[in-house]
Amino acid sequence: MRGRAVIICVGDELLEGRVADTNSQYLRESLEPLGWKVVMIMTVADASEEISSALRFALGRGDLIILTGGLGPTPDDLTREGVAEGLGRQLVRDPAIESRLRDRFDRMGREMPPSNLRQADILTGGCEVIEGEGTAPGLLIREESRLIYLLPGVPSELRYMVEKKVLPALSLESDGLFRSSRKIELFGCTEAEAGEVVQSLLRQGSGIKASWLAREGVIQIRLWGEAADARELEGRLEDLVKKVSERLSGAVVSTDGSSLAEVASELMKRRGATLAVAESCTGGLIGERITSVPGSSLFFLGGVISYSVPVKTSLLGVPRKAINEKGVVSREVAEAMARGVRSLLGSDLALSSTGVAGPGGGTAETPIGTVCIGLSSEGGERSWELRLPGDRDMVRRLAANAALMALIRHLREGSGG
Ligand code: ATP
Repeated sequence: MRGRAVIICVGDELLEGRVADTNSQYLRESLEPLGWKVVMIMTVADASEEISSALRFALGRGDLIILTGGLGPTPDDLTREGVAEGLGRQLVRDPAIESRLRDRFDRMGREMPPSNLRQADILTGGCEVIEGEGTAPGLLIREESRLIYLLPGVPSELRYMVEKKVLPALSLESDGLFRSSRKIELFGCTEAEAGEVVQSLLRQGSGIKASWLAREGVIQIRLWGEAADARELEGRLEDLVKKVSERLSGAVVSTDGSSLAEVASELMKRRGATLAVAESCTGGLIGERITSVPGSSLFFLGGVISYSVPVKTSLLGVPRKAINEKGVVSREVAEAMARGVRSLLGSDLALSSTGVAGPGGGTAETPIGTVCIGLSSEGGERSWELRLPGDRDMVRRLAANAALMALIRHLREGSGG
């Protein structure tokens, strides 16, 4: 382990709950594979005395301290002031940053407000400037053996700076160990099942660590380790990814961090086939997921949001008999919807969803959370009946993900992979 890290998020909006803190989770996930253990996350007000006292406290707890937010030009952006106060240093204007700021405003054809000049302030006594995407540069200060980073609060600016500048620099703070990590995305197994498989493999003494993140039925496992020998570590990680994938094969979405929609898109493009959707309970979510991936126009033709029974019967040709006999939430209706939209839009493949998302509408036979997914292809129709947990929103999101996973499995079976 390289050392202990403390994250300090600065901002009244975070304290008041107006903005949810996503930066610290992102930082933790980025730092841990590099061997930094996040031991504390603090949220402080936009006040230099709060920032300086949080920093003094963090100096006693961490080897790496990252502050995010409060670098902007407005009077409530006080991170530079708070850090200078906490370290007993002064702020001075950096002419190079000042001229870059002026150039930036010139290029936009706008006059620079004088308050923006505050963003050209750096600390005396040694301070490295980190250029980023926004106007505010980040700063790195070395205080004895500790590293203190001041980074932007805007999540996209933070990510840019962390990925392009901070992580590469941190990986050079060498302790002679090499670090690496892998991600496995799963869908269709429980967190407990995935946990048991991974824990039993880790118990076999690979020296690899694991963390979990579960969202909308997708389980993301991150495996990471550190070793003196890079090739040996990569070999151990590869071996573990292979064993986890074998044990949970039907549930593996990807082993390279790709999402359900990205994997489905890639497989559709490789197949050279077209896709249409007929959505009832998901109300367009399947189409939304698919079109969120760039390049989906190469295979995705479109869809029908067939929410009412008349649209199911008149537009998609779902037989009334199937609805009366089996119910509108049934595998038969899901199959007929998929078949109908495939023929209506002339696609090679089609997906459908019909279900009871709640909070009303559940019956003893078809309780809330019952969702049927249909898939139609040249070879005929297939369908699955699922019982999904959670509230209306969760049931709909899980159903859209389940439809994508059904498509992925179908395409993999067809390609032998
Ligand atoms: P800029 O230089 O662009 O002004 P900044 O470093 O001053 O950025 P802030 O002004 O503190 O950052 O925050 C800008 C916005 O970034 C906030 O309104 C908020 O929406 C978002 N933000 C700040 N901190 C976080 C956080 N920890 N998690 C998620 N979003 C955040």
